[in-house]
Amino acid sequence: MGSYNPYDNVVETIRNAANVLSLTESEYIACMYPERELKVNFPVKMDDGSIEVFEGYRVQHSSSRGPCKGGIRFHQDVNIDEVKALAAWMTFKCAVVGIPYGGAKGGIRVNPSTLSHSEIERMTRRYTAMILPLLGPEKDIPAPDVNTNAEVMSWIMDTYSMFKGYAVPGVVTGKPVDIGGSLGRGEATGRGVMITTREILGKLGMSIGGVKAAIQGMGNVGSISAKLIAEQGGTIVAVSDVSGGIHDPNGLDIPAILEYLSTRGNLLEHYNAPGLRHITNEELLELPVDVLVPAALENQISEKNAANIKARLIVEGANGPTTVGADSILKKNGVVVVPDILANAGGVVVSYFEWAQNLQSLFWDEDQVNERLGRIMVNAVDEVFALHTEKNIPMRTSAYCLALSKLVEAKNIRGVFP
Ligand code: NAD
Repeated sequence: MGSYNPYDNVVETIRNAANVLSLTESEYIACMYPERELKVNFPVKMDDGSIEVFEGYRVQHSSSRGPCKGGIRFHQDVNIDEVKALAAWMTFKCAVVGIPYGGAKGGIRVNPSTLSHSEIERMTRRYTAMILPLLGPEKDIPAPDVNTNAEVMSWIMDTYSMFKGYAVPGVVTGKPVDIGGSLGRGEATGRGVMITTREILGKLGMSIGGVKAAIQGMGNVGSISAKLIAEQGGTIVAVSDVSGGIHDPNGLDIPAILEYLSTRGNLLEHYNAPGLRHITNEELLELPVDVLVPAALENQISEKNAANIKARLIVEGANGPTTVGADSILKKNGVVVVPDILANAGGVVVSYFEWAQNLQSLFWDEDQVNERLGRIMVNAVDEVFALHTEKNIPMRTSAYCLALSKLVEAKNIRGVFP
């Protein structure tokens, strides 16, 4: 990552939006700082009996509009600036789609592929115990992110519940359905990416059915985005994971690739089919496609490669894949960017539905979940796009303007304590 600091990106983006809104610094200054940052170091007993100490974080960026909400990431590059940026993005994401949450994020600095399943469980449970004072359905509600999934969420829910002495399903979202998870949550982020892509293409006079798309990252977000865009008639010409990418200009067989990737440990570098060639992640980003969906990590489109991007539309499935410097190059070249806080908000929207179901001990069917998700996403896309055209500003700025106005309004209503 070099000297790249994602939190600098956040601060600059907030300042841009504040300028457009003509806000004074005291009106928005509080949004520039996370409310709480917790760093934990904790021991875990490994399978061979040795003890390893892991470093973890939980950052609460804002609780102005409601309880803090945000995922937990297991990755070797996790650091405080990344977690702070991810927490802030959650605040703005929840505001732009109008759900009653603030933002948070957490993570452990670890490469989980080097751990056994039971080591990951013990690490997750101990991390949960360490950040427990911050958590709770009314306080701070984690969810899955990179390298965490429904099973990890069930360990967090169980650990929290053991400390409380009773079952507390509402403390995490993205849980298995059997313990209070929501139908549709597993697909929600990718579904939101597909809806955003479809809606923006429509506004640009294009149809999702006719586009060629490339998708970086084939985890939860990338794989579902690929599946749903393909189901809408789009042609997925390239996908990638941490091992590299595959490209077929005539279109990849997405169901076959998803079937292959469903076996734990399978990577695309070993996938083969007639007509495809193996490419690097860097090459994937520069392919001649209509739509590019970065759905892996931050800082993928930077000043180094932005001028080589040939896509007409970038839909940010990942958080923070594009740097501020890259944004201005893309704007100059006429590349339309749908910002992360809008494009990947489907996950937190259905997390909100899951939490609301937990609090009421109710279950919604999947059609109900998807229909409500669709309504919220289409509405948010319309609002962001309208401000983008009205003020002739990039969609990232218009999304931040809408979110920042809501945050400032909440702060004004609540006042400054004491
Ligand atoms: P995941 O762990 O399920 O998948 C990550 C994918 O990225 C994997 O295919 C992995 O192989 C690939 N990858 C990892 N390092 C890479 C690299 N250096 N180059 C290329 N590919 C690489 O994670 P996810 O949940 O799909 O999250 C992906 C992105 O989407 C993250 O930015 C995350 O914050 C964001 N996001 C996730 C959710 C969610 O609900 N899971 C919601 C909103 C945003």
